[in-house]
Amino acid sequence: MSERTLMLIKPDGVARGLVGEVIGRIETKGFVLEALELRILEREVAERHYGEHVDKPFFGELVAFITSGPLVAGVISGRGAVAGWRSMMGATDPANSAPGTIRGDFATLLSENVVHGSDSPESAEREIGIFFPDLAR
Ligand code: UDP
Ligand code: MG
Repeated sequence: MSERTLMLIKPDGVARGLVGEVIGRIETKGFVLEALELRILEREVAERHYGEHVDKPFFGELVAFITSGPLVAGVISGRGAVAGWRSMMGATDPANSAPGTIRGDFATLLSENVVHGSDSPESAEREIGIFFPDLAR
């Protein structure tokens, strides 16, 4: 059964020229790109996307960073896409991300960890609705 998830290549990943690398991994894994777009996020959209973290001490920096430059937003689909993409990303803190994962291979900083992925099918549908309203179910 196919499932879908939201994928972001954050501004650090775009600035460092990692778009091709990340998209290549998604394609060779066998996931399907349902949407893909370069854009700069409005603050309001970023705050909605990261709403679960509004009370965390890092929220301000997180929103400032994610709106600081162009990012790539996409929807990917396939069997087990939510957990599969999280597993390809690696642990949130690159200090703990395994080699072979995107964060493990390309990041050292928690605040600049290259990629985002929805953490559950419910989060995926909520986040896809924020970034790609035309694809909302
Ligand atoms: N983050 C941060 N400081 C922290 C925790 C998280 O800057 O102490 C950032 C980090 O870039 C992470 C994002 O906030 O990717 C969202 O945090 P979450 O726990 O949802 O991690 P993710 O789902 O991205 O793995
Ligand atoms: Mg998260």
